[in-house]
Amino acid sequence: MATTAVKHYQMFVGGQGTDATGGETQAVVNPATGEVMAEVPRATEADVERAVTAARQAFETWVETTPRERSELLLKLADALIEHGDEFGDLESENVGKPRALFMSEELPVCADHLRFFAGAGRILEGKATGEYMRGFTSMIRREPLGVVGSITPWNYPLMMAVWKIGPALAAGNCVVLKPSGWTPLTSLRLAELAADIFPPGVLNVITGEGRVVGAAIVRHPGVAMVSLTGDTATGKEIARLASDTVKRVHLELGGKAPVVVFDDADLEAVSQGIKIGGFFNSGQDCTAATRILAGSRIYDNLLATLVPAVESVKVGDPLQEGIDMGPMVSKRQLETVEGFVDRSRQKGATILTGGSRLDRRGYFYQPSVVANVSQDSEIVQKEVFGPVVTVQRFKDDDEAIAWANDVPYGLAASVWTRDFKRAMNASRKLQFGTVWINTHIPLVSEMPHGGYKQSGYGKDLSVYSLEEYTQIKHVMAAIT
Ligand code: NAD
Repeated sequence: MATTAVKHYQMFVGGQGTDATGGETQAVVNPATGEVMAEVPRATEADVERAVTAARQAFETWVETTPRERSELLLKLADALIEHGDEFGDLESENVGKPRALFMSEELPVCADHLRFFAGAGRILEGKATGEYMRGFTSMIRREPLGVVGSITPWNYPLMMAVWKIGPALAAGNCVVLKPSGWTPLTSLRLAELAADIFPPGVLNVITGEGRVVGAAIVRHPGVAMVSLTGDTATGKEIARLASDTVKRVHLELGGKAPVVVFDDADLEAVSQGIKIGGFFNSGQDCTAATRILAGSRIYDNLLATLVPAVESVKVGDPLQEGIDMGPMVSKRQLETVEGFVDRSRQKGATILTGGSRLDRRGYFYQPSVVANVSQDSEIVQKEVFGPVVTVQRFKDDDEAIAWANDVPYGLAASVWTRDFKRAMNASRKLQFGTVWINTHIPLVSEMPHGGYKQSGYGKDLSVYSLEEYTQIKHVMAAIT
């Protein structure tokens, strides 16, 4: 059932639901209607102190648990997620504007799978073999948790990003203080409520409030050993600066501007369908979204002839309705950001092949849009739009395609489309991105890493590489003679 009344949610500190010290709250808006749907605590620095203290206390016993014990609890959390799947579907759809049916089929099972993966992977973490590297001494490697991890998540995939942070941190034996985006905190709070019945108090704490206040206080806190952010590149730079005062480990998953390199021999129907999903899933609010289409000059016109109708077939509407591909932007501010990018590019001579304006209805809806006649140095090509907008550029040869693909500050993900194996392999070698897809765009799996090159950040989410981020290596050396 849809949530209709404004509901008050509590944070979770030390296993207990709690309001903010001082009792302040902040409103949470449903982007499909523009109406307030809930209120959450507006935490203060005092609440950060409470949460970090609870996490540090919990760590004293949590660090003694075995990988198997932690694994069993993470598996229970995955089961609880599926058991309460409908609630998560309602909350995420109404709070973020995601098509509910797509969330239920594409995100919820994936979130549970990620948790189950971390539950298993935490049991097989290895260090270098014990050995005698100096006569008379035995060296051993211990892989140890860091302590309290501060996890700061964005608004585009609130539940999934929470799982990406919580899963490896807890599996590796850390305790967590999680701060979701103030726009989309509801599924993280519900997850914390379920976790309170599964994990010892204080192992997972979730607090809500403003990034500049609560997020920054987590980053500055000397009792927090590591901060993991998924968010904007500007936020990542600020967090890295703040974290330097306490020499904290920082893991940054930041923005993206993925190129889609379409060579002259590509299957254009497959490209168009790939972009229809990769560019417009989650209203294009995806750090790996297929945003910059670079097409060979021989197939440029043919590609547009299949791409534009494919984009026009994206069904936009009420996220709670079945059969919808795309809901609204997450907020009025994000809608205005997207609108600003397209309007400025139009003023500078770009051609809007389809879309190009907001929808005439309540809520924060924008049309799926294709923008052509843009130069490599234009703002809409260089900066992250984070909305349902793709640009198209025509390249003259393979070298220009790769040069343009790499010529942005970001390096999160890219795709290359060709029937020629060698061409695909050479392109994937030269593309400076943390993920390169060949003849597809956007799928991810628990076992493989996700993370950026360049200003898309450093460190990996998912896979055993992310578990390594959440551990530190100790050398123990014993005299044996
Ligand atoms: P954002 O940077 O505005 O906010 C992210 C989080 O940081 C929020 O919880 C926010 O409250 C907090 N925050 C803001 N200022 C802070 C500060 N000074 N100190 C501490 N915390 C602070 O990002 P957003 O708008 O919520 O999310 C969209 C961005 O996230 C896009 O740039 C997108 O590309 C990126 N993203 C990246 C990935 C990835 O895996 N690389 C995945 C999803 C989203």
